[in-house]
Amino acid sequence: METMKQYIEDAEKALLHTYNRYQVVLDKGDGVYLYDIEGKKYLDFCAGIAVFALGYNNKKYNDALKAQIDKLIHTSNYYYNVPAIEAAKKIKKVSGMDRVFFTNSGAEAVEGAIKAARKYAYLKDGTTDHEIIAMEHSFHGRTMGALSVTGNPKYREAFEPMIGNIRFAKMNDFESVLSQVTDKTCAILFETVQGEGGIYPASEEFLKKVRALCDERDILLILDEIQCGMGRTGFMYAWQKYGVKPDIMTTAKALGCGVPVGAFLMTEKVGENSLQSGDHGTTYGGNPLAAAAINIVLDLFEENHIIDNVNQVGAYLTEKLDKLALKYDFITERRGIGLIQGLVFDRPVGEIITKALDKGLILINAGTNIIRFVPPLIISKENVDEMIDILDSCLN
Ligand SMILES: *Cc1c(COP(=O)(O)O)cnc(C)c1O
Repeated sequence: METMKQYIEDAEKALLHTYNRYQVVLDKGDGVYLYDIEGKKYLDFCAGIAVFALGYNNKKYNDALKAQIDKLIHTSNYYYNVPAIEAAKKIKKVSGMDRVFFTNSGAEAVEGAIKAARKYAYLKDGTTDHEIIAMEHSFHGRTMGALSVTGNPKYREAFEPMIGNIRFAKMNDFESVLSQVTDKTCAILFETVQGEGGIYPASEEFLKKVRALCDERDILLILDEIQCGMGRTGFMYAWQKYGVKPDIMTTAKALGCGVPVGAFLMTEKVGENSLQSGDHGTTYGGNPLAAAAINIVLDLFEENHIIDNVNQVGAYLTEKLDKLALKYDFITERRGIGLIQGLVFDRPVGEIITKALDKGLILINAGTNIIRFVPPLIISKENVDEMIDILDSCLN
């Protein structure tokens, strides 16, 4: 068998150099643990970037996918298929939204949300110069449209020009949003809890004020729940915590727990007055295999009381991280809700993360100075203790 080092050398010769990967080749997973090809065990507090909520090698999940593979994997959207119909009904129920469009990724869900908002405005006034307000430090994906609303100039610069008519405001600063609003504003878009950009939760006050502004001016509120959604905050979707409902929302990451799938959803009002027959499409989106993943994920969320676990273990994680932040003066802050948390350092965290990996703990950053905690949603308090012990030993 090839050694890990050989595999990594092969990878670096064949794959495009868009990632600085950690020097590990992962092989299999079980529960909240991953194993590399040399058999080393890792406690996983990354979950494939907030994806594998149910833990690895979940038998019911695996069996449901296998059964669907043996039945029908793909049909195209020219025909109906039962798993997609079931998935649409279930996701409507847990989100309280009215209309669903399935995509293959988070970025595509954001693209669809942008198109729906522009079309809504176009149908109202017939013009095509509408504007979208997005937030600084946001992350919405790497495709051109999603990148255009991503508030990190470093990601955008080389790929200019962007889609245009995007204005940036400051998260949790209502005045800065207000100062960007014009007669052409068609949508205000942000993550209910900013993930990639540093785990900044939107405040209740900010959400409510933006919602009221949107109502007053017939601007669409688009909430990106791709990372913070799917139970991670102790609510199926983070906005449900505040009762501030978006007009359009996006979801992905944990929605398929590893099968690439996303969705954008909207209210009936937007559904009836935006994308119409022929306006949008996808070959794969919502295919029977992807939809089967959504179905079993949503079933297991209920059956395994995932959200109850997030509330219990999330509170415990919060307490433990707060203690750690008090212990070390180079940790300046803890931010986050439930099982989407960040520890803010006064220095880069890369070395700490590499050290943790060495000691069998998988962590990720969010920006250079923040360690992000987005574990599988099935983690236990014992897993939190185990994580804190290793992290503490890396900080000493
Ligand atoms: C990950 C992420 C995306 C992009 O999703 P992809 O599946 O990588 O395209 C968009 N928005 C948020 C908030 C994300 O965390």
